[in-house]
Amino acid sequence: MSTFINKDVACPNCGGTKKLTIISAVNAQENPELKEKILKESFFDFECESCGYKSELMYPTIYHDPKKGFMIGLYRTGSQGSKVEAPASLKNITKRRVKDLAELKEKILIFDNSLDDVAIEMVKNSLLEILKKSFGSDNIKAYFSKLGENGIEFAIFFAGDNKPQYHSIKKEVYDNCCEILSSLNFKEPADFLRVGPTLASDLLNKYKNT
Ligand SMILES: [Zn+2]
Repeated sequence: MSTFINKDVACPNCGGTKKLTIISAVNAQENPELKEKILKESFFDFECESCGYKSELMYPTIYHDPKKGFMIGLYRTGSQGSKVEAPASLKNITKRRVKDLAELKEKILIFDNSLDDVAIEMVKNSLLEILKKSFGSDNIKAYFSKLGENGIEFAIFFAGDNKPQYHSIKKEVYDNCCEILSSLNFKEPADFLRVGPTLASDLLNKYKNT
């Protein structure tokens, strides 16, 4: 079930009060329009009718796709009282933790394509290593975009540029990462797992040392 909470918030620009609907839980099946908003990255858009101020107003939320069997908590670590606990009845579904809307969108796209996000992070790790070396910059971000004819496509963001460039990696590289994962006997923890560059490089190092 999706959860809506009406709240009065102060506009950060003019201080005027505005009624805001906080959506603390999104059910992808019941509310496909909310899923669309996440994929368009407009989910947290805030606009003040009094002064016209526009920005993003982010708050913790949880995305649940009961059909595909995954749940993603969006919250920043360390933020008091915002940690999303997994109900006991949802022990057998894939649970992930992300810190912003771009990461949430990426996870949805990965799981909608029935891909393994841990393996995707490992592929991304190798891709970023190459890009960072060839461009001599550490400030490059990559997000899964689609599974296409040319393999796994990533949207690459270079520092200071908000228009992505697309880069594809052969599907075999991904398949290879899945094999590495099973050889490492990687197991899903019971709690919300952060699957990002740290986990990917830890797993790749573990594999190199075996
Ligand atoms: Zn305002």
